[in-house]
Amino acid sequence: MTLQATPARAFLGTALHTPVRGEVEALHQALIIVGENGDIQAVHRRESGEVSRLADEFAARGTLVILGPRQILLPGFVDLHVHAPQWPQLGSALDRPLEEWLQAYTFPLEARYADLQFAQVEYESLVDSLLANGTTTALYFGTIHLEATQRLADICLRRGQRALIGRVAMDDPTQCPANYRDASAEIAELQTRAFIDYVRSMSGNSAGLVKPVITPRFIPSCSDDLLRRLGALAAETQCHVQTHCSESDWQHGYVLERCGVSDTSALEGFGLLSRHTILAHGNFIGEEDAGTIIRHGAGIAHCPLSNVYFSDAVFPARRMLERGMHVGLGTDIAGGASPSILDNARQAVIASRLLEAGVDPAIGRDRRRRPDSRIDAPTAFWLATVGGGIALDLPVGAFVPGYQFDAIVIDADRADCNLRLAPGDGPDASLQKIIYGAGRANIRDVWVGGRRVRG
Ligand SMILES: [Zn+2]
Repeated sequence: MTLQATPARAFLGTALHTPVRGEVEALHQALIIVGENGDIQAVHRRESGEVSRLADEFAARGTLVILGPRQILLPGFVDLHVHAPQWPQLGSALDRPLEEWLQAYTFPLEARYADLQFAQVEYESLVDSLLANGTTTALYFGTIHLEATQRLADICLRRGQRALIGRVAMDDPTQCPANYRDASAEIAELQTRAFIDYVRSMSGNSAGLVKPVITPRFIPSCSDDLLRRLGALAAETQCHVQTHCSESDWQHGYVLERCGVSDTSALEGFGLLSRHTILAHGNFIGEEDAGTIIRHGAGIAHCPLSNVYFSDAVFPARRMLERGMHVGLGTDIAGGASPSILDNARQAVIASRLLEAGVDPAIGRDRRRRPDSRIDAPTAFWLATVGGGIALDLPVGAFVPGYQFDAIVIDADRADCNLRLAPGDGPDASLQKIIYGAGRANIRDVWVGGRRVRG
């Protein structure tokens, strides 16, 4: 006998999502049934004739959630690149080059997370803000501090955010300050193992809402010995891996010079590329690198806001998607100055338009263009939801049976907002208005795995 999960509740209202890249699907006055373990068990469309009978049954049990006429249910957002400890410096020092920004601002700030009280306050604030912005899944870099990174995991589990978290490993004395680096590759590996064990045995985490991630900061911060150890650990534990790859000219050039091969090839050689690897940025990967990433099924965290400040380049998202690469969006807090994936979705559209059109009017139109680069609003929304879920190999990002019910309620009636939905708007128009006009003020309720975590 198969044990069937009991339906926990049902949601009645209008939902928008993009299960197919580039295509908006509206579920008008649909009934979404969610099981006890947070998975979507069924999606009944209005036309099915079953909606009112089933809705009555859930209403009688007191487990029906009814959306208002000016409310829209959306899948929650997936953020593939967050540096949790950098939250206090959001929006500052964005005029410095990456390598200077790290040494002068970022490493000294991250070193402060040896102080657990400081970590607790900042991490609580960050998780709260991300949930308020509709981020139901986040992939986090912590710091080198085991205890502080454990606190972040505790907070995500308690608040109910789906989270993948890495204790950062970085041991290269030529690139990392003396007060903020692992004393040796061996210690970095042991601490990474300790973090994996901690997260996997957290009380209340049997469903794996919070997952550990192997996190070499990036090749410039790590010795070859450490990178090799972490590659072996990834194979042994089957954990996700996250790191930076070819973010800027400086990083791309540094790895070429040190390793004699591209960043992507070097990571592959260390055993760090797999179906569960997320590479942040990837702006300067070449054609061969793209093929390598696709062959391994690894994903890219496209961080369009941060790329303006620290990469001086636009990631060619459309070309990579068309080649079959897994791509989602990242805020790159605090390289990007917004905690909102919606902000990054609209910036992904803008950046792709600039890449396609070219930006220097002194160069002739045909010479400055890069044709077929633009992405549209539905594709940006797909990146923010389904694309992130696929990259992480998690069933999130759309209202499809078998997926987790991670969702947000957009409320168009909130005062002081830029969102003006009109009764005659079709699904495409509504989604475009949400991408370009909605923000934190419009996000009313947030659900993760069928549990209300905000609102
Ligand atoms: Zn980063």
